[in-house]
Amino acid sequence: MGRCKQKDRERKRAAEGCASMFNFVSKKPRVPDEGSASLVGTSASNDEDGCLHAERSNDDQLKTQSIYTGPQVSSYDIGKVIQATMSHTEIDEAINNMSPGDKYMMLKNHVKPGSDYIFPKTYTGGCYRSFKLSWLQEFNWMVYSQNVDGVFCLGCSLFCTNRSAKGSFVTRPFTAWQKKAEKCREHQSSKYHQEALQLKDEFLSSMEKPAANVRTLLDKRKADNVRNNREVVKAVAETVLYCGRQCIALRGHVETPNEERNPGNFLRLLQLVANHNETVKNHLASPMMKNATYISPQTQNEILDIMGNDFILSGLVTEIKEAKFYSILADEVTSHNIEHMAFCVRFVDRESNIREEFLTFVPLSHTTGVYLAKTILQTIEKIGLDPSNIRGQGYDGAANMSSQNVGVQAEIKKRYEV
Ligand SMILES: [Zn+2]
Repeated sequence: MGRCKQKDRERKRAAEGCASMFNFVSKKPRVPDEGSASLVGTSASNDEDGCLHAERSNDDQLKTQSIYTGPQVSSYDIGKVIQATMSHTEIDEAINNMSPGDKYMMLKNHVKPGSDYIFPKTYTGGCYRSFKLSWLQEFNWMVYSQNVDGVFCLGCSLFCTNRSAKGSFVTRPFTAWQKKAEKCREHQSSKYHQEALQLKDEFLSSMEKPAANVRTLLDKRKADNVRNNREVVKAVAETVLYCGRQCIALRGHVETPNEERNPGNFLRLLQLVANHNETVKNHLASPMMKNATYISPQTQNEILDIMGNDFILSGLVTEIKEAKFYSILADEVTSHNIEHMAFCVRFVDRESNIREEFLTFVPLSHTTGVYLAKTILQTIEKIGLDPSNIRGQGYDGAANMSSQNVGVQAEIKKRYEV
């Protein structure tokens, strides 16, 4: 019994000694040098689990020593971003609000306690414990936050894909020093940790060598392709437009560039453009995709349709609507054994010029007056004009057009009293 009482007394003296020392230091925290950690507590040696060999004291102040949170703490401290009072949503928001530059600086400049740093002590697991500096070398993914006296996995905190389901090291600091070995090994063997570290490495690579990053290279290749294709399509469209303005046929006897025989105005002119444009030249010599040469007759016709309908026709319709009233002019024409109707309008433009403009060709399956009148009215409505604003009709002398009983003009007159 006497020996037990003596041991109790020795333990009590040891705890009281620690308490007086902790109180003294916690009242006068040392200000750290720039770039090094703040100094709190005692430099007493401890074990691998952070135990300081001090037993529990009756003094409540000893249960958890004060943590230094003064302005001397480095600004790159994940414990300042992820705070104890924050919900998972708020943590997600705080991390997502960090710019790539913020994350990079956090990764590269996170505060590291210096060798003279004295870590705060906490009564946990049956004795006073504190973080050990050597743990940062043992687990290189770990960072120590002076702000909260706890450790985080910086990679997981910044790059974990499902942060809300995680706890210690990710959304809250790990401080259970007595379980350090078990919990750290458990964390570093987890799948989400490995994935987060991979994302962290990719991020650092993209920040430090943007030109070498695979995603960046793919994005650049894609952007280059888009730019080159636009340049080619622009050259093709301008060539088609030139032929249209000059009223010259686009196609010749063959449809291949560099052909001895006449390949037509379009291909010859495009070849001329290619002689002064490397992108077009490379495209004609070796297109990226054989089914996307942009020079086929189909592409030429599509470009003509777009230019004719979306630009020229819509511009004319706008002008005719401004004039309000107009006359219609129509005549039949046969092309490749197919009957067509050439449809024109006559109107006075905003500068008081009398203009006659061709609007469109309409293929015909019949040539009776009733059918033609119906086709004309459908065409007028299709291009966006109001048939009730027709004030005149002009046709040739054919009976199906001009007959006072069965001609087009009679049919339209019946409906709109033109
Ligand atoms: Zn991790």
